[in-house]
Amino acid sequence: MTTVNTLPTTCPKCNKRFKATITFSCGYKRITTDLRPLFWGMNPMPNRVIRCPFCSFADFVNGFIFDPPPETMEDYQELYKRRREELKSLKKSSVTNGASERFDIALRYEKEGQPPEIVAQIFKEGVDAIRMSVGYPYVSTLPPNLKAPTPEMDILCAQKCAHAFESSPNNIAFAYITAEHYRLAGEFDLAKKWYQIYKDAVKNIEEPPVALKLVNRVENEALKGNSEELLIEEEMASIFIRGLNL
Ligand SMILES: [Zn+2]
Repeated sequence: MTTVNTLPTTCPKCNKRFKATITFSCGYKRITTDLRPLFWGMNPMPNRVIRCPFCSFADFVNGFIFDPPPETMEDYQELYKRRREELKSLKKSSVTNGASERFDIALRYEKEGQPPEIVAQIFKEGVDAIRMSVGYPYVSTLPPNLKAPTPEMDILCAQKCAHAFESSPNNIAFAYITAEHYRLAGEFDLAKKWYQIYKDAVKNIEEPPVALKLVNRVENEALKGNSEELLIEEEMASIFIRGLNL
């Protein structure tokens, strides 16, 4: 189940107060072979990024300032009352679909010299946001030209994932995801090259982040020239998702 809440938020750059809708929990039923979760209900990804409506600063939720939790039960009641009043007059966070903001964040983190693991993870999230926004049920929130993933979008995703893998070879799963995006884009030679890079990278790993059974299955699709999106059986999804948490 996906749960969201709207809270007063303070921007760390300009110090102004506004309101943002935030994801508290989310679950998914299946994932695609490019490790993209298919959520129960709404897509919560856009709500993990906030953009300040005053100065346009964007970051993940924990980059913003929230009111500390109250200490007593009475304080809780007081806080809810105050919050309800305050929310009425606050401006909204100006995030659209979360995709472009993620790339802004990734670029900024990269410039600021954050550890490559963090950058790689953010790139992956940026890539996810682009592909996931396609499945977002509220069509009005999509950019007007974004109806379904295009080969161009998959190539962009592949390049971002390749970059993420090269920035941090510890994130082996990105090599696999690169291959899968190239397959989805119909770039089968590049896909085969990246499946091999992934296989070479996991040669000495007992439990690879993406099981070889899956890699062989999608590689076989590439050999057949199939660029369709595929789903992973439910019981296998939990195995593959490990790759995202490396
Ligand atoms: Zn601001």
